[in-house]
Amino acid sequence: MRVERPSVCPLDCPDTCSLTVTVEDDRIVAIRGSHANPYTGGVLCAKVPEAYPAFVHGAGRLRTPLRRVGDRGEGRFERITWGEALDLIHARFTAVIDAHGPQAILPLNYAGPHGMLAGGSMDLRFFHKLGASLLDRRPLCGGIRTEAWVGTFGPVPGIPPEQIAHARLCVAWGNNVTWSNLHLMPLINRARKAGARLVVVDPKRTVIARQADLHIALRPGTDVVLAWAVAAELERRGGIDRAFVERHVAGFDEFMALARGFSLADAARVCGVNAADVRTLAEWYGAASPAAISVGNGLERNQNGGSGIRAIFALPALAGKFGVPGGGLVNGASFAFPKTPARLARPDLVPEGTRTLNIIDVGRHLLDASLAPPIKAIFVYNHNPVVVHPDANRLRRGLERADLFIVGADVVMTDSLRYADVILPAASHFEHADLYPAYGQHWLQRAEPVISPQGEALPNTEIFRRLAARFGFSDPIFSASDAELMDDALDPDDPRLGGVRPHRLATDRALAMTVGGEEAILFRNVVPKTPSGKVELASTYLERKYGARLPRWRPVESRYPLALISPASDRRITSTFGGLHVADGPPPLEMHPDDAHARGLQDGTRVRIWNDLGEIRLPLRISDALPRGVVCTLKGAWLATSDNGQTVSALCPAHHADISEGACFNDARVEVAAV
Ligand code: SF4
Repeated sequence: MRVERPSVCPLDCPDTCSLTVTVEDDRIVAIRGSHANPYTGGVLCAKVPEAYPAFVHGAGRLRTPLRRVGDRGEGRFERITWGEALDLIHARFTAVIDAHGPQAILPLNYAGPHGMLAGGSMDLRFFHKLGASLLDRRPLCGGIRTEAWVGTFGPVPGIPPEQIAHARLCVAWGNNVTWSNLHLMPLINRARKAGARLVVVDPKRTVIARQADLHIALRPGTDVVLAWAVAAELERRGGIDRAFVERHVAGFDEFMALARGFSLADAARVCGVNAADVRTLAEWYGAASPAAISVGNGLERNQNGGSGIRAIFALPALAGKFGVPGGGLVNGASFAFPKTPARLARPDLVPEGTRTLNIIDVGRHLLDASLAPPIKAIFVYNHNPVVVHPDANRLRRGLERADLFIVGADVVMTDSLRYADVILPAASHFEHADLYPAYGQHWLQRAEPVISPQGEALPNTEIFRRLAARFGFSDPIFSASDAELMDDALDPDDPRLGGVRPHRLATDRALAMTVGGEEAILFRNVVPKTPSGKVELASTYLERKYGARLPRWRPVESRYPLALISPASDRRITSTFGGLHVADGPPPLEMHPDDAHARGLQDGTRVRIWNDLGEIRLPLRISDALPRGVVCTLKGAWLATSDNGQTVSALCPAHHADISEGACFNDARVEVAAV
């Protein structure tokens, strides 16, 4: 019998679409967009409709627990029972704890699914009680932007994306909307039909950049200089809203002293753009009201990333763009939801003095003989680190350590799970209930399972419930049902829930996370929650945490001449679904014709791309969509697309950005030659 059931796409994407899933005989046979979430309005990206059925039911699906019988990474496993798997994990973790203490165990999880239960609930309760090392996941992606936002405005929501339809000027800054923020596009188009201009700032001439009234193709990592130059030009043109600044902005003089240090000509030289374009951006931004800026994630992935985003966030404060529909910044959506992480994850269980390790440093820590205690066991879930971590070769060397005990849990067999000693089959989000806030829009959703768990797969919550029981954790919080976990995940007294317990929220319609019934608008119904109560261009919060009171600019020093960027693809969501697209082969390397000519390279040539960290080989695509000196390939391809077991993350350095100790993928510098 065919039935249609509501669900939600939980992948690492800002849009969080509502879905209608067609199920026949407990199998997913079709997926389409639903209107339950008005923002996503029945439209899905092209990445998912065909991929989801294959992801859930295909050859890569994990259906039983497994134990490694081959060499690490070789991929040979034998089937075991859940009881055997739990016993094995218990025995090995207990041995590690006896010899080195619980902090020698590290959960290595990220954001494969964004459901609140699958993403961080019973799992965190378990690891917190165990006393395992804590993992700071945020630096891998999104942490820099979030910290820049909190430092400037506090933990408050910016305008929801729907507001951009009211703007007279839309700026997509480092946001490849058509591939990674799809539902923003019709709203921008609506604004443009009403006469708005579109500016795109992106090193690459993306699809949306081709449609823009102005495209500024800056060098990667120079956003802070561009934004400073726009600020200084706004001031020269009399475009500073003095009354707003006087009342609502802290740190104006300190910020502007830095901004004035860059003339249009200076900025043009550093950013590799035309001074006239910088002037035009300042002129249009100063004149247009409302003006909305949407900032993507790519521009945070460099050592100046936090500074770049902070300088962009300063522009609407300087020019007085807040307080009107369609004005300000499309950002901070995750602060629109009444999350209660202290109740869900129970950080109060963490033993005092427990260390926190940065996710991007895990490879280094695994190989660090002086780390005390050493990492002796890791638990990989919701994550495919050998594909996505910077300096991936180092991480892989760490995972190859013979004395390391590795547990992995996932929906499908990934490149990383091949290194595991024990593999646990996780249920996909179609197989369990969950709550879905979003990080790119303001609609709260809930979903029930649409099919049963496949094979012996279990939801993450149940996996860690069983583990907690096996370790003798008898407190009732470790046997909480999924419904109870949902009620712990959100504030049930939040008036927007209308008195409905979170686990009973409707699954056929999303709930608007408004402010008193209206869409959030900073300086209309939302005020900054910074220590000063103002927009902090000089941030006390960031000064205290990172010594970063103000944005700063540092060029990347490297003996390699080409800047390599690795944005999201139009096939995968980071690495999710990568196993389904291995037959596509590796993504191409795009290069400007002049750079190709200088190296004697032809279109279609197989090239080697290398630096001190590694080497990859890709087909060359010569394209003037990139500026000279910048090459581009797409992140997330699985190792099977590579002939030497390395993908682009092997070339990305693991140093830290200016705030959040964040990842700097786009600081990769490389050379390219024919194979
Ligand atoms: S990946 Fe993003 S755009 Fe695509 S269906 Fe999922 S939430 Fe929607």
